[in-house]
Amino acid sequence: MPKLEKRAWAEPFKIKVVEPLRMTTREYREQALKEAGYNTFLLRSRDVYIDLLTDSGTNAMSDNQWAGMMLGDEAYAGSENFYHLEEQVRKYYGYKYLVPTHQGRGAEHLISQILIKPGDFVPGNMYFTTTRLHQELAGGTFVDVIVDEAHDSESLHPFKGNIDLSKLAHLIDRVGADKIAYVTVAATVNMAGGQPISMQNLRDVRDMAHRLDIKVVLDATRAIENAYFIKTREPGFETHSIANILLEMCSYSDACTMSGKKDLLVNIGGFLAMNDREIFEEARNLVVVYEGLHTYGGLAGRDMEAMARGIEEAVQEDHIRARIGQVEYVGERLLSIGIPIVVPIGGHAVFLDAKRFLPHLKQLEFPAQTLAAELYLESGIRTMERGIVSAGRDSVTGEHTFPKLELVRLTFPRRVYTQAHCDVVTEAVEAVHDRRHDVRGLQMVYEPKYLRFFQAKFERI
Ligand SMILES: *Cc1c(COP(=O)(O)O)cnc(C)c1O
Repeated sequence: MPKLEKRAWAEPFKIKVVEPLRMTTREYREQALKEAGYNTFLLRSRDVYIDLLTDSGTNAMSDNQWAGMMLGDEAYAGSENFYHLEEQVRKYYGYKYLVPTHQGRGAEHLISQILIKPGDFVPGNMYFTTTRLHQELAGGTFVDVIVDEAHDSESLHPFKGNIDLSKLAHLIDRVGADKIAYVTVAATVNMAGGQPISMQNLRDVRDMAHRLDIKVVLDATRAIENAYFIKTREPGFETHSIANILLEMCSYSDACTMSGKKDLLVNIGGFLAMNDREIFEEARNLVVVYEGLHTYGGLAGRDMEAMARGIEEAVQEDHIRARIGQVEYVGERLLSIGIPIVVPIGGHAVFLDAKRFLPHLKQLEFPAQTLAAELYLESGIRTMERGIVSAGRDSVTGEHTFPKLELVRLTFPRRVYTQAHCDVVTEAVEAVHDRRHDVRGLQMVYEPKYLRFFQAKFERI
């Protein structure tokens, strides 16, 4: 008798509370999609069957986190939960000072206002929507210095999130070190397909920056997922714990911005953390203007407690293995039936390559936006566009920017869906793939000024 192949992982939890899902008919979805202007962000959640829009704030919390919510100390100043969070951030991320914020962009806003002067440049490993916008609003210009492989959906480079050191050196040469506000380093790189940066690259970037007195700011939103890739791909780290790898990664930066809604297994929360006392003083002052007092930063005490507890759960080896294992499971199933996806498979999502999926559509017919709409229509599964709509317009010329990658992101909330849900997802993608030649593109009929992908509306051509 042939033997079963051994499992690599199983969910390291059992289910205590359930939330019913609602399946709709194709006719119903056709109408819902039309009303939403073919933008999955504008659908009502009740009309969605499996929601892979984002892994942001969609995590399932543990019984331990829910228990912590009851210990919320809702004092305006000096909440117990702030001190617990501060202790956890010091222990696991290693920064000296903590300023909580309501979510990641709150931290991005503060650090951009503090470190960027009009006319400055901010190099980084591929833009992230909110990060770049806050840098621009502060008067800076973002410059992408990621390795070329990141823009190639078929390159098997194990660390496609790496910064290209020669691009970085070239920029510094061109504009001068005093015009560089800081280097912004994301781990992992969402827009490249959840691709990690290596420890060696983090070290090299820190060395180059510090020689010239330039600061390094880590976007630590998915640093724990990045740590898992370092452990499994970078020689020398096989036996290191995720927690130790995370600490070492953070040690190569001066500060971090954090969206707790991703790695940290909560529904809301974020922080800015740093080692520099002066930056801390400024951030602590500025946060009062935009978020709230520096011991709550726009969060309830209970939310800070849930995040403090989430940090400890997020670095557990069995958790992160199952988390990334689930994404790999879906990606590998899709690869096995010939669906074009970004490889290597990323940490938080599988990215369909819409240019190869729908090669008959021009980029201005919004192939990724179209594919996300078709997936919803087919199955009630909600995904999101990461292509020309997300890339937006050039801040100087006002023209569309044409990113090389035109992707649809299937993002997996942490600890939410089962393997059977994953199978439903792969079957839905296959069904759209089978009828791909009949799919028509979209035209944009409404375009908001900022972060247009959230609210833009489309019609079928
Ligand atoms: C989500 C995200 C942010 C912004 O965080 P919010 O909590 O959504 O404000 C910043 N950087 C990266 C890499 C993200 O994924």
